Amino acid sequence: MKDQRDQNIPYKIYLEESEMPKTWYNMRADMKTKPAPLLNPATLQPMTAEELSAVFCEELVKQELDNDHREIPIPQEIQDFYKMYRPAPLVRAYCLEEKLQTPAKIYYKFEGNNTSGSHKLNSAIAQAYYAKQQGLKGVTTETGAGQWGTALSMACAYLGLDCKVFMVKCSYEQKPFRREVMRTYGASVTPSPSTETEIGRKLLEEHPGTTGSLGCAISEAVETAIKSEGYRYVLGSVLNQVLLHQSIIGMESKIAFDKYGIAPDIIIGCAGGGSNLGGLISPFMGEKLRGERDYHFIAVEPKSCPSFTRGVYAYDFCDTGMVCPLAKMYTLGSGFIPAANHAGGLRYHGMSSTLSQLYADGYMEARAIEQTEVFKAAEQFARVEGILPAPESSHAIKVAIDEALKCKETGEEKTILFGLTGTGYFDMVAYQKFHDGLMSDYIPTDEDLQVGFDGIPKFPGN
Ligand SMILES: *Cc1c(COP(=O)(O)O)cnc(C)c1O
Repeated sequence: MKDQRDQNIPYKIYLEESEMPKTWYNMRADMKTKPAPLLNPATLQPMTAEELSAVFCEELVKQELDNDHREIPIPQEIQDFYKMYRPAPLVRAYCLEEKLQTPAKIYYKFEGNNTSGSHKLNSAIAQAYYAKQQGLKGVTTETGAGQWGTALSMACAYLGLDCKVFMVKCSYEQKPFRREVMRTYGASVTPSPSTETEIGRKLLEEHPGTTGSLGCAISEAVETAIKSEGYRYVLGSVLNQVLLHQSIIGMESKIAFDKYGIAPDIIIGCAGGGSNLGGLISPFMGEKLRGERDYHFIAVEPKSCPSFTRGVYAYDFCDTGMVCPLAKMYTLGSGFIPAANHAGGLRYHGMSSTLSQLYADGYMEARAIEQTEVFKAAEQFARVEGILPAPESSHAIKVAIDEALKCKETGEEKTILFGLTGTGYFDMVAYQKFHDGLMSDYIPTDEDLQVGFDGIPKFPGN
């Protein structure tokens, strides 16, 4: 058992400004089987760049469809913005290792060092930048738990763009402080469903008193973008372009490890729509895809919303209003409503097409964890490492601890890297429920899941 820290490895491995990545890495370039293309739901043909441009910025459409270019230069203005809050520290969890009495070496990449409190700012600034470049007035989006809306508000404020956020009504009411952070950055925040859109009005008529859902807020944001001159829609996860921007997380980690001649054996991340996990594993997965080195990748999701572990791999709608293209992904069905759990960022019914293809091809493992187990791990981590983690991030903590304890049994000195995607200061109601013993572990039955599966579109080959 080690009783003191490795003499040559600091607690935090930082990069010099000059060492920071100047390109994003596009994992798709190295995939033998490319992720399935988005389909037009009316024709079932792949969405063309022109069709996508009605909704998304042109440069982002190019990135979305680019399966070939391995390296995409990060524009200087985005690199400069990144310098305000990056590099994100790569921390050796010496104190957690000590507490667990494990021979494993545990590292985490901490993305919570900015006001939005999560990794989402990495893509928000990129998407806002390209909107600005195109001469647009503003962007529209949805937010569930609020992290994405906050990140986008910050990016838009920096670049002088208008930002319209549709926030799922129950979050709007339950998380008033999140809302005020967004308004501080100049965004307009509308509870969804709203009377501002056709889809919102229709939903309110059919289900008076509904507290909304992410799928519905997406539909409202897309409708608003299409109908407002000079606006486009942006999304904070799931899409290929978002994984591309988030590759900064993995690139920085790899450069930092390489400086010290370290390579992780196991890489773990929580998976909602897949953007932080996709970004964290990118350069490592690239090596695996090219046959240069092997890594063990683990995606962690909540048992209450188990897209990878219990979903089906099929084309499905991305939103409730069915205005978005169809995406092939591991999905629980766009009509699946996860039970109220507290990892708001992990409640989406689908999963990134890129990660779905990698999972289908056996490059990755997935595990689902019960909510109370997640909060136990969160508390254990907070007490020794000091950071109060987001419930989403704590899914990765839980599996990192499990793997470290396995090493304790076998005596293996494996190196574990996990993504600590954010802080949990806006999640104290969840922590309170946990402390008061009022937190439940809801796991959907097969019958519950079937309701969602029944809504997946049926056509030959799907
Ligand atoms: C949004 C969010 C996630 C999940 O989103 P992914 O796209 O799967 O990364 C995880 N952690 C935090 C803190 C988030 O805000």
